[in-house]
Amino acid sequence: MPRLTHRDWQTLATTLRIEGRAFINGRHVDAARRFDTVNPATRQVLAQVAECGTAEIDAAVAAARAAFDDGRWAGRSPVERKTVLLRFAALLRANADELALLESLDTGKPVADALGVDVAAAAYTVQWCAEVTDKVGGEVAPLAGNLLGMVMREPVGVVAAVVPWNFPLLMASWKFAPALAAGNSVVLKPSEKSPLSAIRIAALAQEAGIPDGVFNVVPGGGEAGRLLGLHREVDCISFTGSTATGRQIMQYAAQSNLKRVWLELGGKSPNIVLADCPDLQAAARAAAGGVFYNQGEMCSAGSRVLVQRDLYPAFVEALTIASRDYVPGDPLDPATRMGAIVDEIQYRRVLDYIAAGRIESTLLAGGEPLHAETGLFIEPTIFATEAHHRLAREEIFGPVCSVIVFDTLAEAIAIANDSDYGLAAAVWTRDLSTAHLAARQLRAGTVWVNCYEEGGDQNLPFGGYKQSGNGRDKSLHALEKYTELKSTLIKLHD
Ligand code: NAD
Repeated sequence: MPRLTHRDWQTLATTLRIEGRAFINGRHVDAARRFDTVNPATRQVLAQVAECGTAEIDAAVAAARAAFDDGRWAGRSPVERKTVLLRFAALLRANADELALLESLDTGKPVADALGVDVAAAAYTVQWCAEVTDKVGGEVAPLAGNLLGMVMREPVGVVAAVVPWNFPLLMASWKFAPALAAGNSVVLKPSEKSPLSAIRIAALAQEAGIPDGVFNVVPGGGEAGRLLGLHREVDCISFTGSTATGRQIMQYAAQSNLKRVWLELGGKSPNIVLADCPDLQAAARAAAGGVFYNQGEMCSAGSRVLVQRDLYPAFVEALTIASRDYVPGDPLDPATRMGAIVDEIQYRRVLDYIAAGRIESTLLAGGEPLHAETGLFIEPTIFATEAHHRLAREEIFGPVCSVIVFDTLAEAIAIANDSDYGLAAAVWTRDLSTAHLAARQLRAGTVWVNCYEEGGDQNLPFGGYKQSGNGRDKSLHALEKYTELKSTLIKLHD
């Protein structure tokens, strides 16, 4: 199929019919209140979206509960669930252009990325989880001869998935796909900044054959998330978002029914470049991609680049050159590699960090808003910082990179680990032992060696140490979040 041109995407955007209603118990429903969702690249309102409150959340949870309890999904054979989920993945692919466009318009991300990464990876996630549905079984325990002990995995029940706006569809799929594969019912709450793709896929899930009530979408903001967190009929809440909100989600669980809580939270990931780095240019390009891809709105952004002193001047120069690949432009132009910041609040936040950096640190590149008359664009920005500077410690979630110089590996590891976060880390070295030792010492859920953000398939678990969260998305381990272990012991009589 020929790739769509800039003009094709623009034309498609004008003809797009956008659904803004919630999806509860197999049909679209309005809410008493609505909110605007805005295209940050143009500041134009895209659609009015249902703002789910108590009535809608209660209805969605009740539908999910009823669907779970009567076994219309959980009770189906794993092969049947697999077939339906494979159809769902195929429908995501068949509607990829529309989904990518919705994602791009709603978040400001380049449509080429939305198509090639977000939608493609979300469809693959659903496919991958579908394929394991009938492959993962239980265990038989090694007990004494007259005892039979079986360990079975059962779905937890009603899973609430509360997700952020940076990769709306992909982050959602990392939750609903394993949850559905395991037989749960799902209530998905997209971010109020990016609700459109989640609403769209609800209809695709239904078309694929997911029974009514099993997959519900309740757009809304923090209040909708709070209601889910406090709901006594929700058995598990799977959250991706900021550490501050994650803390609240735990409290909601504690205040209500001690529902299972899974948190994928923020990061301030270190990318350590040692003087024996195998390829300086490749490392600089990867470092730029690691922090500027998706406008820097990435939980795993390598926003602290630690460079060994001997390499520092050459590396900073190469990084600055590589950053020029990320010139902000129209997200609907397939050549654009950096789009708009998601909304006015985040835009102001990033600009405030840049202003603070100009006082405390040293600006090396970028630092300016662009095309402000049209939308919310910010140049890729690089600061020379010290490890204790605010820019080097706090998650900015925008296109701002801190470069920090160090002398020894031990010093780099100490700086890297001196953070409340522990989501990801990287190290660049030719030396195998150094690579292994650093990987062992870095307190992070993912460590990349001589790459950044590689291996984004489903086989590696993803999640954080420390205040970057608990549990893991992706891989077979993700199923652990959405299943209970049941031990059944049978005494055998002669
Ligand atoms: P956020 O915490 O503001 O919002 C996340 C979700 O929680 C949204 O759906 C939001 O509506 C909801 N929410 C907000 N306040 C709430 C409350 N009081 N109770 C319940 N729900 C509430 O985060 P964000 O700004 O949407 O996303 C950015 C954050 O997400 C960053 O910190 C980023 O690092 C993190 N993130 C982490 C991962 C990961 O896998 N670890 C992936 C992507 C993003």
